[in-house]
Amino acid sequence: MSAVSKWLKRLLLLFLAAVLAAGASFYVLYFRRTALPPASPHAIVAPSIASLPGLAACWMETGKTFSNFSFGSTAGSILVRHPAGDLLIDTGNSSHFNDEIRGYPFRTWLKLRFLAGQLTPKIPLPELLGRVKEDPQRLRWVILSHAHLDHAGGLMDLPRVPVLLTQRELEFANDPEVQAKGFAIAAHVLKFPVPGKPTLRFDPQPYETFDESADLYKDGSVVVVPLGGHTPGSVGIFVNLSPNRRFFYVGDAVDDERGFQERVGKSLVLRDSDNDEALANQVVSRLSDLHRKLPGLAILPAHGRSAYKKFFPSGPLSCVSGQ
Ligand SMILES: [Zn+2]
Repeated sequence: MSAVSKWLKRLLLLFLAAVLAAGASFYVLYFRRTALPPASPHAIVAPSIASLPGLAACWMETGKTFSNFSFGSTAGSILVRHPAGDLLIDTGNSSHFNDEIRGYPFRTWLKLRFLAGQLTPKIPLPELLGRVKEDPQRLRWVILSHAHLDHAGGLMDLPRVPVLLTQRELEFANDPEVQAKGFAIAAHVLKFPVPGKPTLRFDPQPYETFDESADLYKDGSVVVVPLGGHTPGSVGIFVNLSPNRRFFYVGDAVDDERGFQERVGKSLVLRDSDNDEALANQVVSRLSDLHRKLPGLAILPAHGRSAYKKFFPSGPLSCVSGQ
């Protein structure tokens, strides 16, 4: 064998080893999941739901990855149009994401840049809202599933609007340690209410399998429930377009449909940002239980693109109503 072909062979082997290593780490980071025990039994309290004329939900996608594959992820916002004033659920990344993470130590920066950073908007949220004829100035509220930077960052692009957050989540977001890890960004937190002045409180009113709830418009159309685990004050949001067309937006309580369909824990990528891993796993089991009890309810994980595609069959920037 000539020296050239020997080198070529070595190069080929090296390339194959690199591909294998990349595949294995991709699998460990994104796909390997552990089965979880079932949730402890819990009563279900079915709400009465009316069809409200004028109520609609629109998919505002500001970022996506691997969108041609079933495991592709998404980020952004859901706009809820309501006769009493519109609501945005989560806001995705800030369009200034790269500037915002610049001051972090290299390891933190690298993690933020190559995980959440993949979902940075190409088109800022207000411009997307304009495309569905929504004036961002007229929004009544923004509700955040939790305070992490890839859910709150879009506030930096929006005009000042009241942000609905619980006291627990405000305390978490203002914790210097949480900010030092890059989970919450100081500039985003300045857009939140100050701790001590929470804008979201729960009533001892059971709702589905939850013991507490907050009915935002007092008409049963948008009902928020506590979902702490991923962060202490994480919430889930039921949007009831009609008795048969409902979704439950669960933020990062599960990373994708597999979580509640197969009752498996999170991928390593998302687990890394769980504040309380045991509690976060219990929430996955509870969502799996809810899915079994209410198979017609669409559960939307914030980043689970395949779930969005089912609820919004016409894709991003489309709206769905109860009619
Ligand atoms: Zn997230």
